[in-house]
Amino acid sequence: MARQIDRYLEPLLDEERFAFYQAVCDFGDQEIAPRLLGWEREHVLVPDDAIKKMSQLGLFGLTVNESFGGQGGQHLDLILMGLALGYHSQSVAITPGAAASLGTKPLQLFGNPDQKKAHLPDLAAGKRMFVFGLSEPGRGSDAANPEVTATRDGDGWRIRGEKCWSTNARWASHVVVHALTEPAGRPGHRSTCFIVPMDHPDVHYQEMEGKDVWLQSSTGSIAFDNVHVGNETILGEENEGFKVMVTTLNGGRLFIAGLSLASLAFALDKCRTYAQERVQFDDKPIGRFQRIQDVILDLDIALHQGITWLIHTVRQYDQGSMDRESASKVKIECSRRASELLLLAMEICGGVACLDEFGLMRHMRDLFVCRVGEGSNFALKTLSVRPLLPEISSILE
Ligand SMILES: Cc1cc2nc3c(=O)[nH]c(=O)nc-3n(C[C@H](O)[C@H](O)[C@H](O)COP(=O)(O)OP(=O)(O)OC[C@H]3O[C@@H](n4cnc5c(N)ncnc54)[C@H](O)[C@@H]3O)c2cc1C
Repeated sequence: MARQIDRYLEPLLDEERFAFYQAVCDFGDQEIAPRLLGWEREHVLVPDDAIKKMSQLGLFGLTVNESFGGQGGQHLDLILMGLALGYHSQSVAITPGAAASLGTKPLQLFGNPDQKKAHLPDLAAGKRMFVFGLSEPGRGSDAANPEVTATRDGDGWRIRGEKCWSTNARWASHVVVHALTEPAGRPGHRSTCFIVPMDHPDVHYQEMEGKDVWLQSSTGSIAFDNVHVGNETILGEENEGFKVMVTTLNGGRLFIAGLSLASLAFALDKCRTYAQERVQFDDKPIGRFQRIQDVILDLDIALHQGITWLIHTVRQYDQGSMDRESASKVKIECSRRASELLLLAMEICGGVACLDEFGLMRHMRDLFVCRVGEGSNFALKTLSVRPLLPEISSILE
């Protein structure tokens, strides 16, 4: 049975883009889906050979300019990759997804020519990966005021503290560290970003233990033990690090919205198949019950609406006309709706939905990350409502 999501995507894309999306779907079907259950049961991260194949497909350099060896695509191409790979596994999709949208993107947006020349070719080829070092054990939503500090030391800086939840840390060559540099500065102008090599002797990475979501994705904590770096490692302007981080997150949130819809698309197809094959009472399929039909139709409507809204918003992003609230709103709504509907999708499949091989449980767990990651939905609502209440925005909490 054809994927229902393709019916909604195809009319929104030109032929070349749709062909690219389908090629990544084929890669996911052939190279990822058959191995996924084994990886999960063996508790392994995305294996190196799968990362290599994704690099060879050009997935790490999708949005990097051709002059640096990338594919010269737009954010839309990255979103299509997320929809295609996320259908089977969000944690596989987030590997090139976070590498591009959170790792390479801040360099593309804020890097100087020397930094771009030094890193972009290897990032595009998948030979390097940057991770996004914003979250800390004591600083999640309150990210503007990091506890990680960078203090001046001679002609450079000393970085101290710990980042956590860093996606792709296992494979990272560098971490973009968001550190407090001007404690007395104006809110939002107190921090600076530094590009720090992961193989620096005073940088210590550990894979976070006990994470039960995004099972094949690497999530690390990274400690900085008085790490000395030079001025040339500063990304963007001094004391403007928060701007680097929040600007980057706009694109990342669109990617998370795409992953949410990929999970929803998988659930819809799974339910359509199951409702037509599973027979109960008089040997007739359960799809004849109206309560089962209701859930399937709700999944379908949410997917159609979500895809249409997301592609429209991503196009605005690529044209430079998207506002920050739009990325937040589409991420909030796609992740909320998909995760609520996933529970109903599981319910209409009954006990079999509890089995790992059925796939819905994986998406159920992973959708939780879509609700909290890249700005928790609750915190993003606080920001997104401000333009709607301009007269009282200063007293909103
Ligand atoms: C698998 C995974 C991968 C991740 N990858 C990365 C990564 O690569 N890089 C990175 O830097 N971070 C990453 N994160 C961290 C993620 O961005 C944070 O978890 C997220 O920002 C929320 O922070 P927190 O978990 O500390 O929650 P908290 O900030 O402690 O929030 C707890 C609760 O309070 C609510 N809350 C907080 N502030 C407000 C507010 N202003 N208004 C209303 N409610 C509020 C939240 O919504 C939430 O419900 C990742 C997280 C996960 C789970």
